Amino acid sequence: MSSAPNVIWLGLTGSFAASLGTAAGALGIFAVRQLSPELKDTLLSAAAGIMLAATFFSLLLPALTFAEQQTGHPTYAVIIVIAGILSGAAALYFVHRRVPHEHFFAGRQGPDQRNLGRIWLFVLAITLHNFPEGMAVGVGFAGGDVANGLSLVLGIGMQNVPEGLAVAVSLLSVGYSRARSCTVGVLTGLVEPVGALFGGIAVSIAATLTPWTMGFAAGAMLFVISDEVIPETHRGSIPSLATFALLGGFAIMMFLDAAVG
Ligand SMILES: [Zn+2]
Repeated sequence: MSSAPNVIWLGLTGSFAASLGTAAGALGIFAVRQLSPELKDTLLSAAAGIMLAATFFSLLLPALTFAEQQTGHPTYAVIIVIAGILSGAAALYFVHRRVPHEHFFAGRQGPDQRNLGRIWLFVLAITLHNFPEGMAVGVGFAGGDVANGLSLVLGIGMQNVPEGLAVAVSLLSVGYSRARSCTVGVLTGLVEPVGALFGGIAVSIAATLTPWTMGFAAGAMLFVISDEVIPETHRGSIPSLATFALLGGFAIMMFLDAAVG
């Protein structure tokens, strides 16, 4: 496939651009000292809504189109994509189970050890969930579909802003310096180009597997949204606030996909 290196290159550049959203959010720590729990939940919920719509419109729909072109049959097409979704979710489930969350700060003593552990768990969760996001951007350019990739870059980049800020604010709140909190925030975003490289290589080497690979990225995203982001953001003091923020994010991404992709 002659366009193969091109897809990898587009995905890498695109996901790097998207990770600038994380960096912009993390830099926000120099302007904002803290976020109220309500605002944090609202922003992260909106991020989840963007992720959710990106999963459907920029990954699953194109995956179904590709699969139908390949198989010439809507039922086979849907089975291939569902197989991808389930594999992606299963992969994330095993990664989550195996990552030694609780040993992250095992050596550390002190009264706020528990809080520290919780914050680092959150940082780790954001970092982990950036991998499928990067992969989504990487596979979004499959078949040289620049418009689809671009709407993913914009959407993922946008929802990275509150995530980067949330990481930096959390670290600042447990006593890290602004510079340190910001640096860690920026670093969590740099997982995305790694994921993009992974996804880009997968769709280039095995072009016929593209619908499955896109499904895989979608399943990994859905796992993170359902397992981490929604439960974490939907137990605040104002009922339905997070739900409407999620819907708002969903609408933004849906609009982006229609306008750009
Ligand atoms: Zn996200």
